[in-house]
Amino acid sequence: MASVYLDPEIETLPRAALGKLQGEKLARQVERVLRLSPFYRRKYAAAGIVLGLAIKHPEDIRKFPILAKAELREAQAAKPFFGDIATVPVGDFIETLSTTGTTGRPFHCVWTKNDLAYTHAVMRRTVWTMGIRPGDIVQNGFAYGLFVAGVNVHLACQQLGCLVVPIGATNTERHLDYLTGLKSTILFATPSFAMYLAERLKEAGIAPESLGLRIGCFGGEPGTAVPATRTKLEEGLGIDARDYYGLAEICPGMSPECEAKDGIHFCEDHLIAEVLDPETKEPVAEGETGVLVVTDLSREAMPLLRYWTNDLVRLSTERCACGRTHARAPGGIVGRGDDRINLKGAKFYPTQVENAVRALPDLAPEFRIVLDHDHARHSDTCTVRVELAPGKTAAGAALAALIAGVEAKLKAETGSSLAVEIVPTGSLERAMTKSKRVVDNRKPHGR
Ligand SMILES: [Zn+2]
Repeated sequence: MASVYLDPEIETLPRAALGKLQGEKLARQVERVLRLSPFYRRKYAAAGIVLGLAIKHPEDIRKFPILAKAELREAQAAKPFFGDIATVPVGDFIETLSTTGTTGRPFHCVWTKNDLAYTHAVMRRTVWTMGIRPGDIVQNGFAYGLFVAGVNVHLACQQLGCLVVPIGATNTERHLDYLTGLKSTILFATPSFAMYLAERLKEAGIAPESLGLRIGCFGGEPGTAVPATRTKLEEGLGIDARDYYGLAEICPGMSPECEAKDGIHFCEDHLIAEVLDPETKEPVAEGETGVLVVTDLSREAMPLLRYWTNDLVRLSTERCACGRTHARAPGGIVGRGDDRINLKGAKFYPTQVENAVRALPDLAPEFRIVLDHDHARHSDTCTVRVELAPGKTAAGAALAALIAGVEAKLKAETGSSLAVEIVPTGSLERAMTKSKRVVDNRKPHGR
């Protein structure tokens, strides 16, 4: 079955054996952090946890407190540059990258030689699961530099025997040149950037069928698993679109979609994935949406235990059609815990707006959600700015009908009445890396 799995034994390991492996690795990881990391010793002492605690099962992780990103940032601010979190001496670090810092100061992650060997092995498996094979031409549209995905994709694909084209996330013209000239077979990018490339191809009159692209691997932000976005990506680039997820602070590229496209699989031999209620922080029932909390069982330099990712998922441990036994999150990352828009008591996510906008053929794929406060009415308002698809025009009654149609679709998708504003085609900025599509002007009221 080498053609389906890269590591057949581990990828199809029965769940009981997987649990046993997780329990053993968890016991070892807990022992390590308590013995070697002043940060964890301090944190766990406050919770009454000391060395010698009996740990056998993955569920034993629930005995430990949650770890928030703010704690990691504070530890690094108190003791620059890396804090006192690590379990190995600074001299053993061989790479450092930072989280993107979209919501505050960055957290500096570090890797030892063993850590890079492990994360690259995970990424090779991830890449294989998404259908990439030796000989593929991989066009890497992820930013290089401190953004973990660029280098991670690059090295893992090279190690598998692919030809890698390291263009990065900015040079659209070069991307088009290589897509049409070299006929790259694989594209890695954020879904936003891939969508932008699809728009540019269309403008240039290049048919997706004339390219050599087979598969698009999209990560760095949610969206690929949003049905209307997946369809647009697949049709616009002539590809099979695969969603994948990873975190620099845990393991880049740890969860890919297989050919069943029924959820991103977590590499459970290296981590424990929990889904907790955002408020009570208790586990939710399987299949219910909650915050993904991850425990890193393999990382050596700076392992994170019960890390609150703030990403919303629902988890299934049912065996996938692909035969893999590792848990998966159907629908991918549903949103971020703090992405949720609270409008006059109604709650919805930007991904719901995305699904509505991208399902409408008269609209371009880009949009903005603008939140304001109407002081006269003491009420919050929400306007969704959209563009007409290139070449489309509408005025008078046709425009009014179009707007009414978009409003109805948004209402059906989000449950809220949102105003719609049509802006000139191409006027909303396209993000090359991670998009920020919510503009909240409601200060000082906040969300
Ligand atoms: Zn699968």
